[in-house]
Amino acid sequence: LLTVDDAAVTFGDAPALDHVDLTLEPGEIVSILGPSGSGKSTLLRAVAGLQPLTAGRILLDDADQASTPPHRRGVGLMFQDHALFPTRDVGGNVAFGLRMHGAPRAAAERRVAELLGLVGLPDAARRPIATLSGGEQQRVALARALAPSPRLLMLDEPLGQLDRGLRERLVQELRAVFTRLGTSVLAVTHDQGEAFALADRVVVMHDGRIAQTGTPQELWRRPADEFVARFLGFGN
Ligand code: ATP
Ligand code: MG
Repeated sequence: LLTVDDAAVTFGDAPALDHVDLTLEPGEIVSILGPSGSGKSTLLRAVAGLQPLTAGRILLDDADQASTPPHRRGVGLMFQDHALFPTRDVGGNVAFGLRMHGAPRAAAERRVAELLGLVGLPDAARRPIATLSGGEQQRVALARALAPSPRLLMLDEPLGQLDRGLRERLVQELRAVFTRLGTSVLAVTHDQGEAFALADRVVVMHDGRIAQTGTPQELWRRPADEFVARFLGFGN
């Protein structure tokens, strides 16, 4: 589905992405874990087409995306500050991308109802955004990101602002939703528990490079180097 091939991004002379290779299979859920400044957001932005590469290539379904603008890539993005539109109700927020992509009103409404059911808010379509709790708003943001059926959904700290208990619940819900839809997901977090609970495979980044990639079990059993071992909390 996705191939990141020797991708580099440089700001000034500091590499934010230092020749990164990564592949994602259809339906796979991959978490990107790493300290602040390690290049996680830069990688997502590069895949989305929001950050030009200094070198290397991004391929989606084997097609080089160099000249494909963000809205033609078929990827969905959800950032930490999910920025719902406060003047639209829940349904209006979820329908936003659909109407933009030219879906007729009736079809868009059916799709909105389906998505709100999926994220556990079946009766919320007409509610103003301001009446929702933080966790409910995250679910609306997720429904909005899923609305155009992206071939790849990218989440950048999607649960960052929520308290731990709610995050743990939502991670389980998210995983169930993605598995059910067969959605391919690339999810950035700096919470190890969240990464391990959500993903089939975890990528650990350090200084713009991929320090290790593997299943949660592989990372625990055989951390590739001292950085990964320390980052995962060995010896603390
Ligand atoms: P965090 O966990 O804090 O979100 P991150 O892993 O997402 O960190 P990035 O945002 O990808 O890190 O940033 C990687 C490096 O690139 C950092 O050193 C950052 O300062 C730098 N950087 C990112 N965007 C820009 C920019 N537009 N201009 C200059 N430097 C940038
Ligand atoms: Mg970031």
